[in-house]
Amino acid sequence: MSIDEPTSQPRKLLLVAACALVDADGRVLIAQRPEGKQLAGMWEFPGGKVEAGETPEETVVRELAEELGIETKTACLAPLTFASHSYEGFNLLMPLFVCRRFWGTPQPLEHQALKWVRPNKLRDYDMPPADAPLIPFLIDLL
Ligand code: C5P
Repeated sequence: MSIDEPTSQPRKLLLVAACALVDADGRVLIAQRPEGKQLAGMWEFPGGKVEAGETPEETVVRELAEELGIETKTACLAPLTFASHSYEGFNLLMPLFVCRRFWGTPQPLEHQALKWVRPNKLRDYDMPPADAPLIPFLIDLL
């Protein structure tokens, strides 16, 4: 290897779409990441990786159905802000949508637990480093 060759791969950009579900009392749903996954036990805004061919809004609709068993529509999602964080091995870009209109009762189908939390209490929960900086935007909004 010549001295000019890079020794490591460039960090990948991972696009994850997340959602703050808001109930009639203005509380936000957070979900506890499952055992065995990265950041296990931390409380996150539900969502997941944007798959090829999807818009971030379509990702949120799909992930809320898969993870929580609820139905919503892309028209019910409002973009609020985004998170940008460098994790070990990848850079994460994570748009955050707000959803106040959905059908069904969220169930922890893929998480350890779910909690409805007042925005000003979100800081009491251990959140991934990408999610925590989103809290002030929710406090301002709600
Ligand atoms: O949920 P999943 O493991 O597919 O997400 C991929 C990565 O994105 C996680 O390992 C985590 O680093 C990051 N993530 C996050 N906050 C979320 C969802 C995912 O930081 N709300």
